[in-house]
Amino acid sequence: MKIGIAILGSTGSIGTQALEVIIEHKDLFSVEVLTANNNCDLLIKQAKKHKPNTVVIVNQAKYNKVNSELSKLGIKVYSGQKSLEQIVESENINIVLTALVGYSGLIPTINAIKHGKKIALANKETLVVAGDLITKLSKKYGVPIYPVDSEHSAIFQCLVGENNNAIEKIYLTASGGPFRGKKAAELKTISKKQALKHPNWSMGAKITIDSATLMNKGLEVIEAKWLFNLSKDQIDVVVHPQSIIHSAVQFEDGSIKAQLGIPDMKLPIQYALGFPCRLKNNFRRFSFFDYPNLTFEKADEKTFRNLYLAYRAMEKGGNSACILNAANEIAVEAFLNDKIGFLNMSDLIDNCLEKITFVKSPTIEDYIETDQQTRLLANKLL
Ligand code: MG
Repeated sequence: MKIGIAILGSTGSIGTQALEVIIEHKDLFSVEVLTANNNCDLLIKQAKKHKPNTVVIVNQAKYNKVNSELSKLGIKVYSGQKSLEQIVESENINIVLTALVGYSGLIPTINAIKHGKKIALANKETLVVAGDLITKLSKKYGVPIYPVDSEHSAIFQCLVGENNNAIEKIYLTASGGPFRGKKAAELKTISKKQALKHPNWSMGAKITIDSATLMNKGLEVIEAKWLFNLSKDQIDVVVHPQSIIHSAVQFEDGSIKAQLGIPDMKLPIQYALGFPCRLKNNFRRFSFFDYPNLTFEKADEKTFRNLYLAYRAMEKGGNSACILNAANEIAVEAFLNDKIGFLNMSDLIDNCLEKITFVKSPTIEDYIETDQQTRLLANKLL
């Protein structure tokens, strides 16, 4: 029996790379479901190649086009947000790869867990927004969450075989983004074109901006807290510009295990889909002699305030990280639309964290409400 995979967000950076991984291991995996928000041309192309049972095009205006191309091939076509949320329940799915951008991943992930599907989590925002709820559900339904984020995959890989040996702390590595070493005065006038140029990783626009502001690392700190049940003092960010050490775990005897490799998301994707097996592949191999200097620095939280704000939200708990995430999504969108400057993104998030009502133990309804209220306020503040 092949492992049935659903890819939520198959036309994005992670989704397309996941399909490259899957096609190399056709004997092991079958593509059951593909979904896309808007990119119907690529979705149609992918479906013709990978022959899923079902596709979902979220934008209903594009349903007719997708359906006319795919239904004659026996592929079921659905459309709309509700279909995206429900499709994860399909019987033939074993693993749901959540590669959606931002908050939109939350409800489909919850549904997938409730239907016993293993989660390959590439959508860190899901854990940032509602980590408490998601980890409780994953325990309740006995569903594992395999991280796809390269840093969290590294930590996860370091923990294999440790039989619950306690973590003293983790070192979450960060490239530092394209503006490492710059100060606030230089960042004021940064253009989106400059911010969209990441030195090591090729990714979608949202996460590339998040990497430039260090919000991505902030979100990853919160993601790590939930995935590995850690406190604030157990998570250190280390700037490592070469992105070769993907992260490290320090155990209670002081020993440190790290996972290394060329920056290539296909490896953590493959590890999450194939776990516990390490599948043979022909990805480019790392050579120590190509990287004689691996270097390390402290993160500059004063200049890159988003990282500080993320730690603060994590410490405060409740719905704070949900506020942080929603405000950040609005801020990044506004920056990409030339509405605000690079540094204004942190101002907007800080403002929302101050003004939105704090909820100590949020329910799913509280998270949804917090997300909506924050977006309204952030848009007003713009
Ligand atoms: Mg990452």
